[in-house]
Amino acid sequence: MPDRRKAGTSVDAVIVGAGFSGLYLLHRLRGLGFSTRVFERGADVGGTWYWNRYPGARCDVESMQYSYSFDEDLQQEWHWPEKFSAQPDILAYANHVADRFDLKKDITFDTTVTAAHFDEAARRWTIETDTGERIRAQFFVMATGCISTAQIPAIEGIDSYKGRTFHTGAWPHEKVDFTGERIAVIGTGSSGIQAIPVLAQEAAHVTVFQRTPNYSLPSQNCPMTDEYERSWKEHYTDLRENMRSSFHGSLKDLNDRPALSVSETERQETYQKRWDIGGTPFLGSFNDLLTDKEANDTAAEFVRQQIKKIVKDPATADLLGPKTYPIGTKRICVDSGYFETYNRDNVDLVDISETPIERFTPDGLVVDGKHYAVDSVVFATGFDAMTGTLFRVDIRGRGGQALKEKWEAGPRTYLGLMSEAFPNMFMITGPGSPSVKSNMIISIEQHVDLVTDSLVHMRANGLETMEPERQAEDDWVDHVQEAANRTLFPLANSWYMGSNIPGKPRLFTPYIGGVGRYRQICEQMVADGYKGFRFERKAAAAAE
Ligand code: NAP
Repeated sequence: MPDRRKAGTSVDAVIVGAGFSGLYLLHRLRGLGFSTRVFERGADVGGTWYWNRYPGARCDVESMQYSYSFDEDLQQEWHWPEKFSAQPDILAYANHVADRFDLKKDITFDTTVTAAHFDEAARRWTIETDTGERIRAQFFVMATGCISTAQIPAIEGIDSYKGRTFHTGAWPHEKVDFTGERIAVIGTGSSGIQAIPVLAQEAAHVTVFQRTPNYSLPSQNCPMTDEYERSWKEHYTDLRENMRSSFHGSLKDLNDRPALSVSETERQETYQKRWDIGGTPFLGSFNDLLTDKEANDTAAEFVRQQIKKIVKDPATADLLGPKTYPIGTKRICVDSGYFETYNRDNVDLVDISETPIERFTPDGLVVDGKHYAVDSVVFATGFDAMTGTLFRVDIRGRGGQALKEKWEAGPRTYLGLMSEAFPNMFMITGPGSPSVKSNMIISIEQHVDLVTDSLVHMRANGLETMEPERQAEDDWVDHVQEAANRTLFPLANSWYMGSNIPGKPRLFTPYIGGVGRYRQICEQMVADGYKGFRFERKAAAAAE
């Protein structure tokens, strides 16, 4: 039954999404006395970690860092069992937070927000859901995550396929049993690379269809040790502060020397040391890996050589080695035994870079004229990232303008937080903010705090709407691209660039200027009286 308890009501704020953004924002707004409703399309909290239940799903930011910092008791009391947490542990944490702060009572689950229209005369948003609820709110916040609209490619005959199909980003809640099955996995991004080793242990046979090989680093994951946990918990206050001012929103020991300034021997030793430590700090081996192609080539070649050492069949090893883009410019992957999996007898790799999947048949798929019969297909084919979820809601600002139309040539935001002509609509980690180029939870906390500070500022000063100035937005959009153009990122066809979605404008969507720098820019903006934003004052008669 639709939740109509508060049908037709009005609240201060409506939040879309009950992932890490929505949960913290609800907690903050409620604490500040703003009446708030959250709508969540899933049946429970957790966002990304609610949907991405595929075998092997795991975070590649260390647990001690991929967690909320806003509550000292929470961060001291919570125990993470592993260095890099598995999806069930992160989901358990999201549930714990929701229960601990009694958040679920203000969240309406199983409900998708379908439309949000700004009424200029009333200066209020009208929000509609797929359960027929209609609610008015002064503030409308999309806390919908950056990677939440799963993408299944349009391949001929896909509807005729009679076997089971799965997408990693919308995985069933019950255990899926692949015992004895022949599986096709399409896609070798972070999700595919995590799922393939686990699937291979269960299925009779796994055929991986690879369009572009990915650079992947071993996680070297291990159980959490008391000593490591203590080293964080005893210094959490300082360490979290360092994270907030760091480049990535996480502490990684970045080497401040250029790759070509050291000898070949030292370079190889540095790469080897970081490969052995595991995870993304490898990309911090030298300070110019993402800005200097020649430097980057040395790291890329090191990884290709590692792949050749691990994978026994030279032809397969060669296919798995990325050659067409610099390392790190597509999202770097972190794995647990990915390349080793290709040494198994029950795993095959099919290169579809030159010969795309032709079509599905009722019992399999065809590539280059060859039919592969499979019982199940796992689509690890990614997401319509950054904008896809925003566009699924019919969002209309001033003059009935649709967000989708305004952003036809690419997202236009000021600070990745708001878009001009959409007053009082905020995006948590929106396009143009560090978002996916950072430790998401650190960036979420910063954006949530910025939103709540803005609302408090408005309330204290009798202001009713907030909106970016056009010039500030134009300048920010330019700045986001300038920052990207100083790096190697535009050289890759990545979802950062929108390249994975046919017809999507090709430009770099997150802000790559660094988490610490971005935070400073936001703090300066506030110190300068919310420079770049304009406000409308409450009409005297309307003032409550
Ligand atoms: P992804 O990185 O976009 O990878 C999608 C894969 O599917 C790519 O290999 C892509 O090939 C392939 N593909 C797409 N369309 C295809 C088609 N028509 N035919 C054949 N292959 C096709 O998606 P993802 O792996 O789900 O990861 C998305 C993001 O989620 C990650 O980059 C990361 O930010 C996040 N994530 C993080 C973790 C973690 O923390 N460990 C885990 C999972 C996901 P091309 O490369 O040629 O496009």
